[in-house]
Amino acid sequence: MPACALPQVVIIGRPNVGKSTLFNRLVGKKVALVDDQPGVTRDRRFGDADLLGMKFQLVDTAGWEDEDPASLPGRMRAQTEVSLKGADVALFVIDSRADLTPLDREIARWLRGQDVPVVLAANKAEGSSGDAGIMEAYALGFGEPVALSAEHGEGLADLFTALRPLVEKDEDEWAEPEPEDEEEPGATAPLSLAIVGRPNAGKSTLINRLLGEDRLLTGPEAGITRDSIAVDWQWTDPKSGEVRDIKLVDTAGMRKKAKVQDKLERLSVADARNAIDYAEVVVLLLDATRGLEVQDLKIANLVLEEGRALIVAINKWDVAEDASGLFNGVRGALDEGLAQLKGVPLVAVSAMTGKGLDQMLSAAFEVREAWSRRVPTAALNRWFDHALETNPPPAPGGRRIKLRYITQTNTRPPRFVIFGTRLDDLPSSYERYLLNSIRADLGFGAVPVRLTLKSPK
Ligand code: GDP
Ligand code: GDP
Repeated sequence: MPACALPQVVIIGRPNVGKSTLFNRLVGKKVALVDDQPGVTRDRRFGDADLLGMKFQLVDTAGWEDEDPASLPGRMRAQTEVSLKGADVALFVIDSRADLTPLDREIARWLRGQDVPVVLAANKAEGSSGDAGIMEAYALGFGEPVALSAEHGEGLADLFTALRPLVEKDEDEWAEPEPEDEEEPGATAPLSLAIVGRPNAGKSTLINRLLGEDRLLTGPEAGITRDSIAVDWQWTDPKSGEVRDIKLVDTAGMRKKAKVQDKLERLSVADARNAIDYAEVVVLLLDATRGLEVQDLKIANLVLEEGRALIVAINKWDVAEDASGLFNGVRGALDEGLAQLKGVPLVAVSAMTGKGLDQMLSAAFEVREAWSRRVPTAALNRWFDHALETNPPPAPGGRRIKLRYITQTNTRPPRFVIFGTRLDDLPSSYERYLLNSIRADLGFGAVPVRLTLKSPK
């Protein structure tokens, strides 16, 4: 095992739940050391993980697939026991799209007897596909499961929030003591912010403007890191005078100026994808001299599909012609173009002069708050009753579809599950009505809200 001062997180779970995918997602393309010491320990991989700037050593306990199923529990126990020695956290991964298996339960039972904190991750939860499994996962007794998609990079911010107190607690023993202002991760944690947009929209200029130096293009670290890097930065809110921490996510592709023109469009989407992985809030930068283009809508859609909060900023406002016409035009196109973009915060900025940047950052904090918000159950069900009263569900064939109650299962992004019967008959227009009403009535605006309908078993 490599010598390490970093806190250690061990991934545990039955085969095929996505452990390796998660490992690769967090460790990236860096070479992972393989510990193939003979005996019980086979095929353990170690790597240095970076999750939103939080560093830890990650251990993947892959390699049980070929075992004789009959001896699996015994071997699993032995291998896992070795892996857990010295671990700070066990990251227990299940497949949210499949029912819990006996092996999942066996691992859970065993983990409860170990002297290590457990974070439960419900993987393969991209879109809303995993909600059923996520509900079931509560029963394992490890608290709220972190819904994530290792493959699509969804839920990484939640994973960060869940792991942080466990990982950083240990860090204190060897690192400089941190100032004690981090009790409420939700409210005071640095805002992870990414800026995306088409080539020449002004992303580099904006980042340099925010950071107040030319570090992205000239720093010695440029070009060394292949993946996203995060720059810690502080912003003073001019309204409240509060100093707020921001982690600006930058991708290598944004720093490097691509030379071949026809690669540009593809690159901007790839960059966006990369940056989105690590961001809570994404600013889509438009170019005032070009307006809103199809490529912009694609990127906006991608951001929301990945479950991130979105802000649209029209840059180069200093050279905009017919400024108010442009603003209203973009506003209208966003509201009418894609349903999920309705109400997305829109600001006008100039990376060159600095105009509108405070407003943009205020909007970013506001939208993160909505993205992280949990609606109290009582208020939620009051809203629900009202929504059903205003527009009752249809009664195909004379039999009314019963919608019984609603619960919010997750935040960042917010996820809701509505329980009812005869749901297969519910028209998708009614589902859209509910989703749009959640957004509008409960103040989520254009925050990507997930809604699942579920019949109790
Ligand atoms: P492991 O055996 O637990 O390490 O699982 P792998 O990482 O090898 O993944 C098993 C399968 O699940 C592979 O086909 C992956 O592509 C797939 N997979 C992993 N993560 C996700 C995810 O987040 N969503 C979906 N849909 N599939 C995933
Ligand atoms: P990127 O490809 O998105 O990183 O875009 P750059 O930051 O390289 O900017 C592209 C061009 O737009 C450069 O010539 C910038 O000087 C210019 N630019 C960026 N922001 C502004 C702005 O707010 N106003 C004006 N007038 N030009 C800008």
